[in-house]
Amino acid sequence: MILLSAKPVVQKRRAELLAKTDAIKKRLGRAPHLSVILIGDDPASQVYVDRKANAAMKVGFTSETIRFPKDISANAVLKRVRELNSEKKVDGILIQRPLPPQLREKDVSLWVDPAKDVDCLHPENIGLLVTGNPRFMPCTPGGILLLLDHYGITIEGKTVCVIGRSAIVGKPLASLLLSRNASLIQVHRSTPDAASLCKLGDLVFVAAGSKGLLKRNWLKPGSVVVDVGIHRDGAGKITGDVDTESIADLPMALTPVPGGVGPMTIQVLLENTFTAASRQG
Ligand code: NAD
Repeated sequence: MILLSAKPVVQKRRAELLAKTDAIKKRLGRAPHLSVILIGDDPASQVYVDRKANAAMKVGFTSETIRFPKDISANAVLKRVRELNSEKKVDGILIQRPLPPQLREKDVSLWVDPAKDVDCLHPENIGLLVTGNPRFMPCTPGGILLLLDHYGITIEGKTVCVIGRSAIVGKPLASLLLSRNASLIQVHRSTPDAASLCKLGDLVFVAAGSKGLLKRNWLKPGSVVVDVGIHRDGAGKITGDVDTESIADLPMALTPVPGGVGPMTIQVLLENTFTAASRQG
């Protein structure tokens, strides 16, 4: 079993980004800036926004986390987003998901100025991605491709299986894989016998949010598995969507959880923020 750790990729790309940030600071007279909006007190969301702020600081960006209580009105959040949209020194805006029920995804995805939508969730940016001309990389799918590229894993011509079809992972990932000339199988909750279809995949991407779903009988030997899932147990232990015990003796490559897709997602968020800043002026 080969583990595809994010660590060397992130170390290398962070150092490159730090150097580029030094250069852009001279041009803009300020650092790239990321504004993160956190609504409510979900502990996992809190961890993610802290990690994003910390990572931004490490590459020389400035960042702020704007916190709202979970019962905040949609209008109050929209007002703040509009202010951020018009603030020149703000390059990237991210509204942390999941959203509370009074904020509807279909509305919120339209709020952030597409030029500052570093999470790549605005329909305009999704349209650009699907038509092969992305303005920003979707963070998690983009991070997965950077990870595979770093380890020299070919996508072109491969049969790939994506488990899940969410707007944040499954759909944009499918789009990127097609743009890299893979042959795509996509399964979801309504797919009968997803395991048999998945077994055809040379590369398998699991983003089901179902702990330990992917077992040995879903895979063929020699496959590359990307585990997107994140599950925290009561003791704080983090695991993914792959049942690692059942596949332990299978010759294959796997992204670890933690230390695989998660850090790559943050890396792409930073790179998108840099891209947004470099387009300013
Ligand atoms: P989601 O709940 O929005 O979507 C899950 C998808 O998986 C759905 O399309 C559903 O149909 C499919 N699915 C569920 N059970 C299935 C089954 N038994 N067989 C086949 N398909 C099934 O989830 P999401 O937002 O895409 O997130 C998925 C997982 O990835 C979660 O654990 C989430 O925490 C994690 N995640 C990690 C990162 C990261 O940076 N590492 C980023 C985003 C999400």
